[in-house]
Amino acid sequence: SAFADLSRAPQVDDATIEALLKSVCSALLESDVNVRLVSELRNSVRAEVKEGLNDKSKSSLQDGQRKALVQKAVFDHLVKLVDPTPGQEQWKPTKGKPNVVMFVGLQGSGKTTSVTKLGHHYAKRGFKVGLVCADTFRAGAFDQLKQNASKANIPFYGSYTETDPVVIAKQGVDSFKKNRFEVIIVDTSGRHRQEAELFEEMVEIADAVKPDMTIMVLDASIGQAAEEQSKAFKEAAGYGGIFVTKLDGHAKGGGAISAVAATHTPILYLGLGEHIADLEIFRPAPFISKLLGQGDLTGLMDKMEEVRTQNPERQKELMKKLEEGGKFTVRDWKEQLGNIMGMGPLSKIAGMIPGMGAMLGGGGGEGDEAANGKMKRMMYICDSMTKEELDSDGSLFYTPVGGKGKGKAKGKEASSSKSKQVAKVDEEGKSKEKKKAKQVKVRMTARARRVAQGSGTSVREVEEFLMQYRMVSKMVQSMGGLARFKQQTSGAG
Ligand code: GDP
Ligand code: MG
Repeated sequence: SAFADLSRAPQVDDATIEALLKSVCSALLESDVNVRLVSELRNSVRAEVKEGLNDKSKSSLQDGQRKALVQKAVFDHLVKLVDPTPGQEQWKPTKGKPNVVMFVGLQGSGKTTSVTKLGHHYAKRGFKVGLVCADTFRAGAFDQLKQNASKANIPFYGSYTETDPVVIAKQGVDSFKKNRFEVIIVDTSGRHRQEAELFEEMVEIADAVKPDMTIMVLDASIGQAAEEQSKAFKEAAGYGGIFVTKLDGHAKGGGAISAVAATHTPILYLGLGEHIADLEIFRPAPFISKLLGQGDLTGLMDKMEEVRTQNPERQKELMKKLEEGGKFTVRDWKEQLGNIMGMGPLSKIAGMIPGMGAMLGGGGGEGDEAANGKMKRMMYICDSMTKEELDSDGSLFYTPVGGKGKGKAKGKEASSSKSKQVAKVDEEGKSKEKKKAKQVKVRMTARARRVAQGSGTSVREVEEFLMQYRMVSKMVQSMGGLARFKQQTSGAG
């Protein structure tokens, strides 16, 4: 809403900037982000904006450009908050070799649940996954993992009789390695508090299985306590990534940001529910983009990989077309929407579509029904479009039928005619130009109205749909096509 206020502001002056900073910072504070970090953010955004606006070479900036400069500064600094290693590629398992991943964290933080989620995630992406239960502390720990793993159809290792977690961990990892498993995830025990015993056990297990990646599971609902907890674990066991759980609840997650800053460790995954599919790969820039209502196409593509599209061949064709520089048409977006609708739960996906969160009234808290209703109406809109409209880039909604081409042809005729006649033609041309301008408006509403009527929606909704298509199309094209984009993210995605 701070961004919305900014774009409505008549001009960009000190007062506008201070108002924006104030609302951004209070939102962060309310979300449990550490005061020191918030004040640092405020100062650095302010400095960058002032410098940008005072830059002589930019003195001719239009208001719109000044606003964009402010937005970019806020965006960049928010990304910095959640990205301790800018420019560095995020960890992901490598195909064809064993990747041992060890989970650590307090009891109840969500380790066992998250171990299964992560296993499921990579199993779906073609990795050979095995889970090891090295929690001998909590009664029933092995049963819990066994149940989760069986439901997800993932091989697991554990023991009812062996009481030494180090022995189980070593045996499990070795046996999975021998059988050429690619992602081997070790679940460990937690204690209620950070105790010397827990840390000792973690170190011993790590020494035995030599993990390629240790992940600390952090319950988002612990708020400000995250800073101290993450530091203690870092010092005792060391870890390379953070898995933030329970972000679907009332927790605001700001504590995780403090953990990132305090330990200089990136967040790798988010847990968004108790279900096995409620996992999101964390990527700093798309995350902030989604937070600001600007969509997260990367996350959407991740999700789409999980869906067996009704027609995988079509999907391949689209990728090939885009890879070769082809246009992403309204029809392509219609097909993607169809796929998205099969994914569910839609309320969690809606925010990833550029502009969709705003259409649903600001994203968060919207039910599946609202999202589903909106998507259905978008499909009706598509169904009411002609073949020509679907195969276009939507611009024909804003130009008269055949208008552009004809105009050019006339111009050529005029220039080739005798000079005497030129003046007359020019005058005619001018009055035609006026007519055309009128026509453009009329035609555009006519097309939109026809589609709105045919689909039982409103002209506004049709325009919203087209606007959203344009946002998605811009993102898709600027990423050089879904195909190349998908290659970039395969593995982690
Ligand atoms: P562990 O002791 O660290 O292994 O934690 P568990 O995996 O047993 O999880 C503790 C509780 O948190 C369980 O009731 C889980 O269902 C729940 N839980 C874990 N992750 C999430 C999440 O992302 N969202 C929600 N709402 N609950 C979660
Ligand atoms: Mg557990």
